[in-house]
Amino acid sequence: MSIFSKIAAGEIPSYKCAENDKFYAFLDINPVTKGHTLVIPRKEIDYIFDMEDDDLADFQIFAKRVAKALKEVIPCKKIAQAVYGLEVNHAHIHLLPINKEEDANFHSHVTISNEEQKEIAEKVFAAFSAHK
Ligand code: 5GP
Repeated sequence: MSIFSKIAAGEIPSYKCAENDKFYAFLDINPVTKGHTLVIPRKEIDYIFDMEDDDLADFQIFAKRVAKALKEVIPCKKIAQAVYGLEVNHAHIHLLPINKEEDANFHSHVTISNEEQKEIAEKVFAAFSAHK
């Protein structure tokens, strides 16, 4: 079981931002910007471009809904999306609130207290749930 599967199953704690039966979204443990969120499929697969077409389409649509909720909570110009997958071998989309291109610099990180992470996740979860 991957570390992200354990997170989606609630075996490892996370700051949950959104979920449904197929996908799960939670705050990144080492955020690049405030509100940095990871979106994952519950079904374990390493490489995003190995996903079946229908699953990939649903994954992207779910991420779009998470991005909209995130933008309601974190003041920003846009939500950037990135896929790397070099560290964790479970497909995931990074969603990053940004105001300028340099904000999406994966070599620099922001420090956010656990209390604030909790607050952000709860607000995003509420915004996501309101648009169901
Ligand atoms: P990538 O695989 O796309 O290169 O990066 C993996 C991302 O997952 C990183 O941004 C890293 O901070 C995040 N990450 C790794 N382990 C955990 C974890 O246990 N919990 C959370 N919330 N994020 C994690």
